[in-house]
Amino acid sequence: MIKPDAVENGHIGAILEKITAAGFKIVAMKYTQLSRRDAQEFYAIHKERPFFGELVEFMTRGPIVAAILEKDNAVDDFRALIGATNPAEAAEGTIRKLYATSIGENAVHGSDSDENAAIEGGFHFSGREVF
Ligand code: GDP
Repeated sequence: MIKPDAVENGHIGAILEKITAAGFKIVAMKYTQLSRRDAQEFYAIHKERPFFGELVEFMTRGPIVAAILEKDNAVDDFRALIGATNPAEAAEGTIRKLYATSIGENAVHGSDSDENAAIEGGFHFSGREVF
């Protein structure tokens, strides 16, 4: 996902350019907005964390871009491309270093395993929307 902060700040195009330049193929993509229920479900693993309320507020405050990306070693390579959760700790040239503003408002989401990528892809897309 390209998160609401990066959409608000006009970074959709630059982020997609970095993703495709890094060799990812976009197999599904949409511009949409999460409801509170969507965000609570998507981030259910974090529901006991102190920042959960803030995270749901943030992720629902405006539109996002959701996409499914394909590449060999996609999970690890995408996490390397986006950088650390906290942009202050993200490596130079990473998407979060370039476009994120804080640990909460950090521009992009990437799945942390192939299994979660399949679940999260199914959360956003039907079979007819994946190419
Ligand atoms: P990720 O896999 O790098 O996205 O990081 P996590 O799975 O640990 O956290 C999920 C998301 O929760 C992050 O991308 C942030 O948007 C948010 N988040 C994580 N830690 C914090 C925090 O300390 N404060 C706030 N406000 N949000 C956080």
